[in-house]
Amino acid sequence: MRKKIAAANWKMNLTIQEGKELVNSILNEIQSIPEGKELIFAVPFPYITEIETQLKGHQNTSVAAQNISNLKAGAYTGEVCGFMLQSIATKYVIIGHSERRMYFHETNEVTKSKVDLALEYKISPLFCCGEPLEIRESGSQNEFVYKQVEESLFHLDAENIQKVVIAYEPIWAIGTGLTASSEQAQEMHAAIRNLLSSKYGHNVAENISILYGGSVKANNAAELFAMKDVDGGLVGGASLDAHEFAAIVKAL
Ligand code: PEP
Repeated sequence: MRKKIAAANWKMNLTIQEGKELVNSILNEIQSIPEGKELIFAVPFPYITEIETQLKGHQNTSVAAQNISNLKAGAYTGEVCGFMLQSIATKYVIIGHSERRMYFHETNEVTKSKVDLALEYKISPLFCCGEPLEIRESGSQNEFVYKQVEESLFHLDAENIQKVVIAYEPIWAIGTGLTASSEQAQEMHAAIRNLLSSKYGHNVAENISILYGGSVKANNAAELFAMKDVDGGLVGGASLDAHEFAAIVKAL
C-alpha cells in the first residue's frame, strides 16, 4: 500500500529558531502520525540536523533537503551533494521543483542526474513535475508532464522507481492562490499513474505515492486528498503557518 504524505516546503524562509517553533507547534497540534502516513519537513540545508533531532521519537516524520547537487563530489564551491546528505541521514530530497527549473535552469537531464545521485546515496527523491499556464491553456499538459517524468525517471528499474515520490505541481497554481480543482488534480494523477503502469506494470504504479502541490490550504486539502490517485500534498506557503499546516496534515 502506498503512503499518504504531507510535505512542508519551507523554501528560503524562517530562521532556525522560527523553524523549530513552527515544528513544535505543528507536533503539538497533530500529536501523532499513524502508520501508512508520513509528515515530511523540507528545510534549508543548515537546519536539517537540528530538525531531525527535534523529530526524534515522533513516528512517521522525516526531514527532506530542498536540493541536491547534480555533481558527485569535488571542487564545486557552494554545492551540497549526495554523500553529504546521506552523512546527516537525510531521508528525502526535493528534485525538479519548478522554482529550480525556472530560476536555476534545471533541465530534465539535470534532474535525471540528481535522481540518480540521490538514489545512489539512499535518499528518496521527491520528484516534482508540472506544466506552466500556457501549456495548460493549450491543452497539452499531459504530454508536457509525461516528458518530464519519462526523461528524468524512466531509466530507473522497477525497484528504484518505487523509492521515488512524485509531486504533480502545476506551475500556475504554485504560490498564486489558484488551485487545480480536485477533478483536474485527479485527472493528471491518474494519467501519471497510467504512464507508470504502462512502463512498470500495475502493481508497481499502485505503490508510488503521487502528491499534489499548488496552493494547498486547510480549506481545500480534504477535497484534494479524497481523490483516488492523490496521495497527499507538497505544501509551500501554507506550511509556514502551524495551525493551517496541522489542519492539512489532519486531512490526509
Ligand atoms: C511548492 O512550492 O511546492 C508549493 C506547492 O507552493 P504553494 O503551496 O505555496 O503553492
